[in-house]
Amino acid sequence: KIVVLDGYTLNPGDISWDGLSKLGDLTVYERTKENEIIERIGKAEIVYTNKTPITKEVLVACPQIKFIGVLATGYNVVDTEAAKAFGIPVCNVPTYGTDAVSQYVFALLLNICHRVELHSESVFKGDWARCEDFCYWKSPLIELAGKSLGVVGLGRIGKRTAEIAEAFGMKVLAYDPHPIPDFESTNFKYVSLEDLYKNSDVISLHVPLFESTRGMINKDTISQMKKGVIIINTSRGPLINEFDLVEALNSGKIGAAALDVVETEPIHDNSVLLNAKNLFITPHIAWAPTESRARLLDIAINNLDEFLKG
Ligand code: NAD
Repeated sequence: KIVVLDGYTLNPGDISWDGLSKLGDLTVYERTKENEIIERIGKAEIVYTNKTPITKEVLVACPQIKFIGVLATGYNVVDTEAAKAFGIPVCNVPTYGTDAVSQYVFALLLNICHRVELHSESVFKGDWARCEDFCYWKSPLIELAGKSLGVVGLGRIGKRTAEIAEAFGMKVLAYDPHPIPDFESTNFKYVSLEDLYKNSDVISLHVPLFESTRGMINKDTISQMKKGVIIINTSRGPLINEFDLVEALNSGKIGAAALDVVETEPIHDNSVLLNAKNLFITPHIAWAPTESRARLLDIAINNLDEFLKG
């Protein structure tokens, strides 16, 4: 028996669950509220989740669970300590979204550089040459060639982002406590975090959220950055102190920022972020092109297949 607790995140109708149903008796729920989790898991031995929490309480109530699949890279929705204590393997999907997320970094960055939708909107309104609020001398278009991109966390997504940046003619400065093995064959320059903050025109965050990285972008680190720096965050919201970010955006210290992730998701109506200048926010969608969701499901199915084969 296989239960998917929140299939909506993965599949808005364009991906088939057939591969998973070949491995067992499959039930897919679109969304599951916290008070429905135990009942819906019922007697299932295999449980898949994306955002629905699998707590110790759930594991105690459903002792027949043999495998937990997380339909994502981040697996903080599962109490892994409790799962370990019960001897239940937890399997995430670490690689599926490298291209999607790094491509999305440039969707966000190029939007800041060119404001395509704003200019297109003006043309559709019949105003080819409207230059009141956003024309290129009030909101200058920005060329990336020759600019420095600071990549914080040169792992899978950071490295791919750095490679794309080089194709735009950018210089890459990277900070990572664990340099990639082949870095000498790249043009990436490893620098200290202080030097990265000091010398980058654009900073893109690709570091995981740990207690040590929580709030790493704050008043103090922002003060080390160039005036007008652009910040892109597709990693995890709590890496940034949102109050300090907004203050720096509104003062012009930070030129613009784009966030695919925020501290509390979904964002609150009264979030301080909603009062910021030159800020773009999208609802955690960097991972979600059809191709990468299909890849995610394939890998998740393969993980279960391998588990069932022992
Ligand atoms: P990864 O594990 O391949 O890379 C993370 C890198 O960060 C590693 O090289 C590691 O050495 C480095 N690192 C660890 N501590 C650091 C520190 N203190 N400072 C700087 N670097 C540090 O992970 P990845 O696949 O590249 O994913 C990166 C992040 O992207 C993850 O946090 C993940 O949750 C996020 N993500 C977001 C989306 C989305 O839809 N927005 C999708 C997938 C992944």
